Amino acid sequence: MTAYIILIVVVAVLLLGVGATVLLRPRGMHGVRRGRARELDLTGSMPKIDDTSTATGTATATAPPEQRQAPPEQRQGPPRPTLEKPPPSAGRMVRLRARLARSQTGFGSALLALLSRDRLDDDTWDEIEEVLITADVGVTPARQITSDLRTKVKVEGTRSTDEVRGMLRTELLAQVETPASRTLRTQRHEGRPAVVLVVGVNGTGKTTTCGKLARSLVGDGQTVVLGAADTFRAAAADQLQTWGERVGAEVVRSDKDGADAASVAFDAVSTGIEQEADVVVVDTAGRLHTKNDLMDELGKVKRVIEKRTAVDEVLLVLDATTGQNGLRQARVFAEVVDVTGIVLTKLDGTAKGGIVIAVQRELGVPVKLVGLGEGPDDLAPFDPATFVDAILGG
Ligand code: GDP
Repeated sequence: MTAYIILIVVVAVLLLGVGATVLLRPRGMHGVRRGRARELDLTGSMPKIDDTSTATGTATATAPPEQRQAPPEQRQGPPRPTLEKPPPSAGRMVRLRARLARSQTGFGSALLALLSRDRLDDDTWDEIEEVLITADVGVTPARQITSDLRTKVKVEGTRSTDEVRGMLRTELLAQVETPASRTLRTQRHEGRPAVVLVVGVNGTGKTTTCGKLARSLVGDGQTVVLGAADTFRAAAADQLQTWGERVGAEVVRSDKDGADAASVAFDAVSTGIEQEADVVVVDTAGRLHTKNDLMDELGKVKRVIEKRTAVDEVLLVLDATTGQNGLRQARVFAEVVDVTGIVLTKLDGTAKGGIVIAVQRELGVPVKLVGLGEGPDDLAPFDPATFVDAILGG
């Protein structure tokens, strides 16, 4: 009898132990895992991410001085994670202006030189149009800009250097500006976090943009949950986790590659709601096998999120160096989901800034953010005046 009772007690203890282990595992629904930097020891284990955001452009993963970390004597157990405190988003584009100016391959100065010629004959106007087309402005806008400038020159007659610059600046600004708001909708509403869905072709810089955006939002004082719903690219979730860990943003990801993207997105949004986060940023896969595949996948991700809350922004990431080809791909995405804003990445590279004009015109959606380097803080809210001045070398 006693042996029987002991056996029952042992079995009960074992069952309780197994139950507790299962319950305490950090899992969401659908086998989705959450990871938060604050629960991890990251000291010494942080993978390096190049930081070219300083004026000197050198790469470093060294923590900035304002990092929050308790002094060693206050720590208990393993060292506390080192969290970075990113700078706020305001004024970033001005800070990165030099990089933008360097990358525009002389498109502004070529235009200024042509417009300053003593005689503006038909050939010169053709050349002006050609410069604009080569800068990825697109054929129709290039023609329109050229024709507008031609009319102005005719009306105003004489042209000092300053007048030429002023005229060109006004014309380019008119082309870059749109009536649509460039403000990112990242404020909590109706007691729910704002949800930002990030879409685009693989390799355009989607995951990097999600990471940079999370940093920038944290820099603006917001709490962020990242959803790693690019479940097709094996490294994407790890990459996102690294970004999240650096600033203390929780990352919701799946245990297995190829998992259902919509489940991960759903869990990320659920986590954001539970934790009363300000923003949930969801990375997605960008395979372009067929338009139908894409439509099925992105459509499902969006629908599933909307079971919990509204999607506030669908940001389409476009690699500025891919010119008209990138634009064609962007068009496919815009047909599949309602894009609310464009993120133009790699504008620091060999991009020819005219793509800003072309993409806004083509998709009817404003450029809201620009990527100006691989450094963690090289993502800036797009500002038309700063952009045009950078092109004109001002
Ligand atoms: P994804 O496949 O779209 O998620 O692309 P990734 O985020 O992995 O980025 C692809 C590559 O583009 C990486 O090497 C990034 O560092 C790089 N990248 C992303 N944004 C920028 C940018 O604004 N400027 C530069 N120069 N490189 C960038």
